[in-house]
Amino acid sequence: SNIVHVIGAGLAGSEAAWQVAKSGVPVVLHEMRPDRMTEAHRTDGLAELVCSNSFRSDDAANNAVGLLHAEMRRLGSLIMRAADANQVPAGGALAVDRDGFSAAVTKALNDHPLIEIARGEVSGLPPADWSNVIVATGPLTSAPLADAIRELTDENALAFFDAIAPIVHRESIDMSVAWFQSRYDKVGPGGTGADYINCPMTKEQYDGFVAALIAGEKTEFKEWETNTPYFDGCLPIEVMAERGPETLRHGPMKPVGLTNPHDPTTKAYAIVQLRQDNKLGTLYNIVGFQTKLKYGEQQRIFRGIPGLEKAEFARLGGLHRNTFLNSPKLLDGQLRLRAQPRLRFAGQMTGCEGYVESASVGLIAGLYAAADARGETLASPPATTALGSLLGHITGGHIETIEPGTRSFQPMNINFGLFPPLANAPTKKPDGTRLRGNEKTVAKKQAMSALALADLDRWIAD
Ligand code: FAD
Repeated sequence: SNIVHVIGAGLAGSEAAWQVAKSGVPVVLHEMRPDRMTEAHRTDGLAELVCSNSFRSDDAANNAVGLLHAEMRRLGSLIMRAADANQVPAGGALAVDRDGFSAAVTKALNDHPLIEIARGEVSGLPPADWSNVIVATGPLTSAPLADAIRELTDENALAFFDAIAPIVHRESIDMSVAWFQSRYDKVGPGGTGADYINCPMTKEQYDGFVAALIAGEKTEFKEWETNTPYFDGCLPIEVMAERGPETLRHGPMKPVGLTNPHDPTTKAYAIVQLRQDNKLGTLYNIVGFQTKLKYGEQQRIFRGIPGLEKAEFARLGGLHRNTFLNSPKLLDGQLRLRAQPRLRFAGQMTGCEGYVESASVGLIAGLYAAADARGETLASPPATTALGSLLGHITGGHIETIEPGTRSFQPMNINFGLFPPLANAPTKKPDGTRLRGNEKTVAKKQAMSALALADLDRWIAD
C-alpha cells in the first residue's frame, strides 16, 4: 500500500502528515501522548510547544528565521497557518497562544479525510510492512525507539548531554587582533596549516577571564537531566576553570605552537582558538568552550576575549538532553536512513534546532515521502533558500573535525551563516554611494532573502 506512517505528532510530524495528505496520499500519524508523556510535554495536544511560545522574528527581509516563515507559508504550511491564526502581540516576533495554536493543528489534522491519528507509543523499529515511514519523535524520543535506532546506526550514543560550544559569525571577528594559524602550522586532511583563528590573551586578561567564568551565572540542571551521561566526556569550560587557575591554560587555551603576526615578539599567556564550523567558512566555533553559562553571561564574558569584542553569535553554548542523529553520515539527501531507507527522519532529530526549523524539516520530509508514495522523486529545494540551507547543514554542510573523537555536527537554528555566499554582494546604495559597515551586512541579508524567495518560487513552479 502507499500509506505513509508518521511517528510523533510534534512540530515536525504534524507538518509532515499535513503535507503528505495535502498531496493526496493517505497517512497514519502515531503519537504516544497521553498514554506516555515526555519529560517536557504537558498535554495530549498535537504540536505542543514545550517551552517558549515564540516562533522568533517574522521579518522575512532581514532575518533568516523570518525568511523561513515566508518560505513555509508559500509551501502551504499548517504550522504557519495555525501560528498566524493564533498570534499574540510580540513586536517583530511571531508569538502564539500555545493552546489555541495546538488546538488548531489538532483540529486540522483530525478533520482531514486522508489522515488517521493513532494514539500509542511506537516502542521499537516500525513493523516491516511500513514501507514509507517518517520518524519525527523529537529531542525527547522515548527510550525503546531511541535504543532501536541506535542499534541500527551503530552509533554509541543518541541521547546525551549536548555539550555545545558557541558559534561565531566569521565576519564579526576582529582580524587586526586575531590571526589564522594551526598549532605548529600543522597541515591536517584538507587543511592549509592556517585553519584556526587565534585570539591572544595577556596574563591580566586571562586571570580576569577565569574569574568571570567562575562568577558567571549558570543554568541549573532539571531533575530529569541528572541521569543522562555527558557526551564524549566534554566538561563545561566553567567547570574546568573551577579546577584551578592553570587548568584552561593547559587545556583548550594553551598558548603553544602559535605566533601572533601582529606582535611576533610577545608571547601570549593564553590563546583562545576558533575552528571552522561549516564548509562555507562563514561560521567558527570556540574550541572547547562548551558551557552552562546563561546566554546573557556568555555574550558578556566571551566578548571580553581580544578579537571577539564585536562577536555576533550564530548560536550560544548550552548543555541539555537531546536526541539527534549524526545526520551528515547517516542520512541521504532525501533524509532517508542509509542503513534502512524506508525510514526517513524529520524535526530536531535530524540536527536542526527550534520549533520553526523542526516544522520546516517536517514539511520537506512530508513532500519527499509523498513523492516516494507516488513513485516520483522530488528535487531538493535550492541551496539559496532558508529551507535548502538548513537541509545543507543537516545532510552534509558541516566539515569533519580535525581532532578525532570530537564532533562538529550540532543542532543549529537557521541563520545566514548557513547560506552560500552571494556571488555579487551589494556594495552601493541605490543612489550610487558606497555602503559602509553595518549597512553592508543589512544589504547583504536583504539580497539573500530576495534571492531565496525568487528561487523558491521557481522551484515551486517546477
Ligand atoms: P517534538 O515537538 O518534541 O515532537 C515529538 C513528538 O513525538 C512528541 O509529541 C512526542 O510525544 C512524540 N514521541 C516521542 N517518542 C515517541 C514514540 N516512540 N512513539 C510515538 N510518539 C513519540 N525550541 C524553540 O524554538 N523554542 C523553545 O523555547 C524551545 N524549548 C525547548 C525546551 C526543551 C526542554 C526541549 C527539549 C526543546 C526545546 N526546543 C525549543 C526545541 C524544540 O523542542 C524542538 O525544536 C521542537 O519541539 C522539536 O520538534 P520535533 O517535532 O522534532 O519534536
